[in-house]
Amino acid sequence: MQVPRWVVVTGVFIAGLFAFFIFFRSLWDVARFAMGQERTFAIIKPDAVAARSTGKIIDRIEQEGFLIKAMKKIDLQKDQAEKFYGVHKDKEFFSDLVAFMTSGPVIVMVLEKVNAVKAWRDLMGSTDPHKAAEGTLRQLFGTSISQNAVHGSDSLQNAEQEISFFFPEL
Ligand code: ATP
Ligand code: MG
Repeated sequence: MQVPRWVVVTGVFIAGLFAFFIFFRSLWDVARFAMGQERTFAIIKPDAVAARSTGKIIDRIEQEGFLIKAMKKIDLQKDQAEKFYGVHKDKEFFSDLVAFMTSGPVIVMVLEKVNAVKAWRDLMGSTDPHKAAEGTLRQLFGTSISQNAVHGSDSLQNAEQEISFFFPEL
């Protein structure tokens, strides 16, 4: 049976549109990379969510020029928290850290900006809120070295790993 000409033409047209779209998306990704745009992974931890500081932290993130590429509110499971903070499994605070991170909902986010990894670490401030610089998120919203309001990836490689851990679709 011969396929009608209009079916072939429509098919080629749709495939062409699709290829055009994919091509320009990749081109855009390359351009962003060339401009130094990066993605990092961030968490608003259970203490800050419980203190109803989510809105203030998100507002600050946007004011500082980050683009929120993805965001969701989740309850971390114990095995997820253990895996996520696996690098600290031999530290004495590990079980407290896992208990804390599973004590209530968290907001997980993918943030984009030029030099996003460093920019987000700078905005968070030092791990210990008492040592964090004035105006940083941990100084403003953290209360102790364990309850320090936010998490941020510490390298570009870890950022990509952490993003795929929570947002495999990206
Ligand atoms: P995060 O990985 O959460 O962004 P960070 O990179 O600043 O924080 P890490 O050394 O990776 O710090 O520690 C991970 C988390 O473990 C800290 O954010 C904190 O919640 C907890 N933690 C770190 N050091 C201590 C400590 N000495 N006592 C209690 N908890 C700690
Ligand atoms: Mg860390």
